[in-house]
Amino acid sequence: MLHNPMRFVHFIGNESVPSRSGESLPVVDPSSGTVFAQIARGDAGDVDRAVGAARAAYAGIWGRVSAVDRGRLLRRWADAVEAHVEELALLESQDTGKPLKQARADAVALARYFEFYAGAADKLHGTTIPYQDGYTVLTLREPHGVTGHIVPWNYPMQIFGRSVGAALAAGNACVVKPAEDACLSLLRVASLAAAVGFPAGALNIVTGLGPEAGQALAEHPGIDHISFTGSTETGKRVAIAAAGHHCPVTLELGGKSPQLVFADADVDAALPVLVNAIVQNCGQTCSAGSRVLVERALYEPLLERLAARFAALRAGPASMDLDLGPLVNRKQQQRVWDFLSDAQAGGIELMAQGEIVDDAPGDGFYQAPVLLRDVPSGHRLWQEEVFGPVLALQPFDDEDEALASANGTQYGLVAGVWTRDGARQMRLARRLHCGQVFINNYGAGGGVELPFGGVKASGHGREKGFEALYAFTTLKTVAIRHG
Ligand code: NDP
Repeated sequence: MLHNPMRFVHFIGNESVPSRSGESLPVVDPSSGTVFAQIARGDAGDVDRAVGAARAAYAGIWGRVSAVDRGRLLRRWADAVEAHVEELALLESQDTGKPLKQARADAVALARYFEFYAGAADKLHGTTIPYQDGYTVLTLREPHGVTGHIVPWNYPMQIFGRSVGAALAAGNACVVKPAEDACLSLLRVASLAAAVGFPAGALNIVTGLGPEAGQALAEHPGIDHISFTGSTETGKRVAIAAAGHHCPVTLELGGKSPQLVFADADVDAALPVLVNAIVQNCGQTCSAGSRVLVERALYEPLLERLAARFAALRAGPASMDLDLGPLVNRKQQQRVWDFLSDAQAGGIELMAQGEIVDDAPGDGFYQAPVLLRDVPSGHRLWQEEVFGPVLALQPFDDEDEALASANGTQYGLVAGVWTRDGARQMRLARRLHCGQVFINNYGAGGGVELPFGGVKASGHGREKGFEALYAFTTLKTVAIRHG
């Protein structure tokens, strides 16, 4: 049995494996603040065991599975996930506090990632290059070998899917370190991988603390590529650890993504999207639209309509399936409170606030959604990632001013532009300094087909789409002199 309702252990070589130390960590339900399960507390020894299993698989059976069969396995895995959406959603929602509908959507997205990379596995190939007379030159796309995946707690299933799905499709064996706050669904998904026929060692999961198991994974010389999603600070630490053994990294580090709303925008279309972009997953989304810049002529009318929507939003236990669940943990709740008390100290006006329902347990990590107006560019509410349901607004007078403010943070992940002016759409798409621009929509990361990643402190490298497959392979050039 790989998954026990109360006690979860590592998944190594298709088996349930307790930590070598015998230690475990409590799992807290964010909706009630109570402990409901235990996970294994992995250390460097457990990571070493998982890397060993992955290396053996890569050198053995898994390394010899053809691309077409890797695709078939991923396809079967997608079907298994689809058949278990409800079970996965319940686990995820209790583990992270996500409202059930969001957890369900994440499980469906996970299946879609596997489906996409199932179809792509046998379409990834090198090229031939015209060269001197008497030569044939070709390139081979080869897997790195063993890839490490450090997954955060905000979208465990989606982030696992986009990174592990692509890495396995490309032929790598994987070792995953989920966030200690969000392991349960991934352990269940791993057991489904074994059930559909992935050979032992192709996928391994070690649970535990970031500075212990995560750091050990980033430092391990048996890891050939690291994919990390999380905070800028930890991303830096992971990159430094990986540099110690010349290991390439893909870093997706969040943002302070702006949406620019011009006076000619279709406001009816924009409104629900502006709200959802910050409310989804209680604002704990790397691509959350956390800043909205509005052309002055539209500022007050738009604010009024946004405020009405914010006032109607309700936060409560994940099982109530409201607009927002709780934040993931006490630390995150404290972080959001700190930002809000800085806003108050800075005299920033709280324009509207949603409600925490009466039924919400007092020890849950709740935060009502908050709308702040006239946030100055220099304030940390305009500059730093809150990772909570806090939307900052600012008026602008012309396009250059809006662009300077939008680009004027350390981040560059996603941006949205709302205007009917086609020339402006194209101009801004080019001038916004980030990895994705949405015009008259906002995709909060977009679908699996769309390459995703950032610039500046938002990270580097791209996940999703075919770009991820390129990232999870290395290119070898073969020059044959045949005369
Ligand atoms: P972290 O960046 O610390 O955590 C992300 C992942 O890294 C988790 O799996 C964590 O494990 C792991 N980790 C932590 N320390 C190390 C380490 N030294 N070496 C290797 N891996 C490590 O984020 P936090 O959970 O502390 O959240 C803080 C802030 O980070 C949030 O408020 C938000 O701003 C940002 N964030 C951004 C995300 C994004 O999607 N871009 C996702 C999550 C957070 P563990 O959780 O077990 O410690």
